[in-house]
Amino acid sequence: MNGLESDGRLGGEPRRPARDRFLWSAAGSRAYEEAMDRACDAIRRTTVRSDRPYAGGSYDDLSGELSEVDAIPDRGVGLDATIEWVADNVLSNSALVSDPRCVAHLQCPPLVSGLVAEAMLSAANQSLDSWDQSPAATVVEESLVSELCDLFGYGVGADGVFTSGGTQSNLMGLLLARDRHVHETWGRWVQDEGLPPEADSLRVLCSSVGHFTAKQAAAQLGLGEDAVVSVPTDDEFRMDPAALDETVARLRDDGSRPFALVGTAGTTDFGSVDPLSELADRADAHDLWFHVDAAYGGALALSDEHRGVLAGIDRADSIAVDFHKLFYQPISCGAFLLRDGSNYRYVARNAAYLNPESDEEAGVSNLVSKSLQTTRRFDALKPFVTFRALGRKGVAELVEYTLDLADDAADLIDRDPAFELVNEPTLNAVVFRYEPFRSHPDLADDEWADRLNREIRDRLLERGVAIVARTEVARTSRQIADEIVTDVCLKFTLLNPQTTIDDVADVLTSVKRYGAAVESEVAG
Ligand SMILES: *Cc1c(COP(=O)(O)O)cnc(C)c1O
Repeated sequence: MNGLESDGRLGGEPRRPARDRFLWSAAGSRAYEEAMDRACDAIRRTTVRSDRPYAGGSYDDLSGELSEVDAIPDRGVGLDATIEWVADNVLSNSALVSDPRCVAHLQCPPLVSGLVAEAMLSAANQSLDSWDQSPAATVVEESLVSELCDLFGYGVGADGVFTSGGTQSNLMGLLLARDRHVHETWGRWVQDEGLPPEADSLRVLCSSVGHFTAKQAAAQLGLGEDAVVSVPTDDEFRMDPAALDETVARLRDDGSRPFALVGTAGTTDFGSVDPLSELADRADAHDLWFHVDAAYGGALALSDEHRGVLAGIDRADSIAVDFHKLFYQPISCGAFLLRDGSNYRYVARNAAYLNPESDEEAGVSNLVSKSLQTTRRFDALKPFVTFRALGRKGVAELVEYTLDLADDAADLIDRDPAFELVNEPTLNAVVFRYEPFRSHPDLADDEWADRLNREIRDRLLERGVAIVARTEVARTSRQIADEIVTDVCLKFTLLNPQTTIDDVADVLTSVKRYGAAVESEVAG
């Protein structure tokens, strides 16, 4: 007996928790090392070279098994046992993102350099909202942001901040665009006074294949989703500048006020890149804030060979870039870049406990004033460590390999009569459609092909053979989003530099095998 009362108190003194629970002691740091070793071991067991990208259960299986466990037990079962439980139940039922046949989404295999940085930044647990919570981290983030601004061709006065990803960066771009426009037009500060009565007429322009977060941001900004007007694309899924001019003219005639243009550098489905220079000209001519959503394609800026595709991005008022996609960093990790940092004045606010004006006067950076978040992770350390370790060119080589792979994959698909190739890849997304060999007794050909493509993707996932994406593609790209007829298609996002053309060929063989199987079951 140690003299403790049953409530854990010794004569009214608070009980000190065990010393090996935190890093502030030799015992704590030993416990950390041992637990990390166990965790590494569990990761090795569950992620190294499996024969399938998904070997886990169905949604029903997992919700049955995993929901049985008591997530908040009164008494803990200990860390070792819990690590083992996570390995056996969670990791082993996870999508193996590093498997060469996991080729569905913009979900990357994370680089070891990023994973190590993730462990270090979590252990240090700095918070980027104020300098006193993150001294060196604040400076590292600022210097990386400054280098990123250079990388995208921004000049002096540019600024930016790390974000949770493209969703937040796109919201920030449209928020600043809205508030600047309202201030310049009606002399009103939206942050203080809210939206003006004329806000109903505000419009954002975005390509018909742009990301849904433009609409989401418009909704959150009080403009409503309908404020985002789709601009038709050309045959290669890039915004058509002539159609943009027509759209702006039509909106102005109707009394609407377009104030922002979202260009996409790497559409999520096709990897297509809008003609950014031409869009920058239009933004100048029509007095629009030009935001470039480069969440996917921003990584091209690293490559001497491919950087030209982004020509004109340096003229964007703001840029969204994600590191947890084509920069191979663990989720989450993105950045928002602003060509003229003084535009942050539209959202500036000072909290006495975090970023008093006296700090600003003394030249101390409290990054909370640039972010939608308050407490914020030191995610910048991940790309920082990766760039230092591999160099810009080292990361560029990974990207370049996957772009070449996508070209080869598109050739394979194009030559195969079982498939219709939908896009010539710009980045590493390849969209295609399995074409049935036989017609269905009761279905129109297009419906039948839709059903087959859906079914193929589901079976591949169920059997764990390959993880491919499905999407819907407008049959003619010149129509406006709401009125289109769409085809169900399959999609490879070939982010993984470990995927070879043989892996792609294997997956295509499986697609055909499952396609033929469904055809013979149904078409008879
Ligand atoms: C992924 C993506 C987004 C959303 O970014 P998150 O990092 O998922 O928040 C926005 N736009 C494009 C083009 C994307 O690919």
